[in-house]
Amino acid sequence: MQGLMMDFPLTLQHPFQRATTLFRRREIVTQTDDGLHRYTYADWGKRVMQLANALKQAGTEDGDRIATFGWNTYRHFELYYAVPCMGAVLHTLNIRLFAEQLVYIVNDAQDKIIFVDGDLVPVLEKLSDQMPTVKLYVIMGDAPNATGKLQPSIDYETFIGSQPTSYTWPTLDENTAAAMCYTSGTTGNPKGVVYSHRSIYLHSMGIGMADGMALAERDSLLPIVPMFHANAWGGPHAAAMVGARVVFPGRFMDPRKVAHLMIDEKVTVAAGVPTIWIGMVPVVEREGLKFPHLRAIYCGGSAVPRALIENLERNNMNIVHAWGMTETSPLASLCNLRAYQEEWSQEEKFRVRAKQGTMLPGVEFRVVNIDSGQEVPWDNTSYGELQVRGPWIARMYYHDEESSRTKFADGWLRTGDVATVDEDGIVQLVDRTKDLVKSGGEWISSVELEGLIMGHPKVLEACVIAIPDAKWSERPLACVVAKPEFEGKVTKEDIIEFLRPQVAKWWLPDDVVFIDAVPKTSVGKFDKKVLRSRFEAYSTAHD
Ligand code: AMP
Repeated sequence: MQGLMMDFPLTLQHPFQRATTLFRRREIVTQTDDGLHRYTYADWGKRVMQLANALKQAGTEDGDRIATFGWNTYRHFELYYAVPCMGAVLHTLNIRLFAEQLVYIVNDAQDKIIFVDGDLVPVLEKLSDQMPTVKLYVIMGDAPNATGKLQPSIDYETFIGSQPTSYTWPTLDENTAAAMCYTSGTTGNPKGVVYSHRSIYLHSMGIGMADGMALAERDSLLPIVPMFHANAWGGPHAAAMVGARVVFPGRFMDPRKVAHLMIDEKVTVAAGVPTIWIGMVPVVEREGLKFPHLRAIYCGGSAVPRALIENLERNNMNIVHAWGMTETSPLASLCNLRAYQEEWSQEEKFRVRAKQGTMLPGVEFRVVNIDSGQEVPWDNTSYGELQVRGPWIARMYYHDEESSRTKFADGWLRTGDVATVDEDGIVQLVDRTKDLVKSGGEWISSVELEGLIMGHPKVLEACVIAIPDAKWSERPLACVVAKPEFEGKVTKEDIIEFLRPQVAKWWLPDDVVFIDAVPKTSVGKFDKKVLRSRFEAYSTAHD
């Protein structure tokens, strides 16, 4: 027997409709070179439809890839809805990628139009010769350093300016592609992940739930995570669905500027990688800043060190750990405390809040022993590869059968993350499969060591890599960045003695080297590949 419910397509046209009618007065704020730009969802909706008309007139057809190369701004948000609602596919390009990767991605996706923020025009000018599929560049805002090489090009406001403010959206199947994003890929070519209307819709509902990000109309959301990185973790899409106010930082991302924006604009929810919050703590403490409206910071992309959770808590800032990947739309798990944990001591709460948490409804998971392929027990100790499936998890990569075969086996996404699970199904990531340090047949978690070292009061950041070792096969090397005021005043012995009571003896790093900064990837994660090659000759030199 069949259910007797309507076959209502889950497309982005529905949240668009809600935002522009039910929530027409709610505000969208953007930090720009000329101060704050403000308008309402009603204004936004009219411009979204003008943009759709302009795109249509420029020859955009169903399924065409329309790319963006920009910061988090209201114009980017207009593209987020105009492009998919008219049946085309929004391709968000990562503005920090290396030139060759950008060229590869634009050609692989066959982007037809690129919308580029004015200050970023010089980056594309150097590459446009190698992007034959691009037929038009639309420049958003002033481009003071442009040479005019991007051709043909048009200013965004001119492009949409004379267009009608209404558009009749086509009827779309919910499985139509809505957006695509390439993973930053530390090995091989970047891989394209293609989101559908249905996956974005369901992901928005998932993160809106109380044990997700509890996103509501009364919230003011600040997405610091870039809109080119996995849809800014779905925040802008979900905000339109529930009518939340949105505050965009534009290109002004330094922690002090962001902190003041949060206070001035009464931000209730912010989302960003650990680096930004690690940088914000000293500013908050130095200036005695208070955030009376902030209810939660959602943080992921790399492990949130326990010390960061404690440092923010000390300043009455609540950080919630989240885990996901470009392939998982991206949010899959969050670490909101369970009812029974509310009774726990602060110490125990910090311990659990450093975990990646509970999978959202819709996301199924299993943890599989890497050698035997068997599921590991939920005993908080056994570990294996975390695998997930669900309606907002990718089932393959775009144009890449080869990688798809290994990464998506038997209907599960093989995340490449190594995890343990406790008796109640709370997941903790131990490491990436390729970052674990394999010492004498046992594994050492580089992430756990990093988290502990970052708890040292004189340490700003720490990154642990494996170095080859004749006897043990691999041993951990800790690369440490001291806080500026302690540069040259913290020693290897300080770090080792700090770790000694906290880990098994054989986990203690063989050496601690002090570096100026931990190299970061284009999405702000520790770039271990760069450190590994920097310390390639390390073990031979120190034998
Ligand atoms: P990306 O697709 O660039 O977002 O990268 C996804 C990867 O980032 C995951 O597979 C993890 O290795 C890592 N990651 C994301 N969130 C977390 C987290 N909360 N803790 C540890 N690693 C994370």
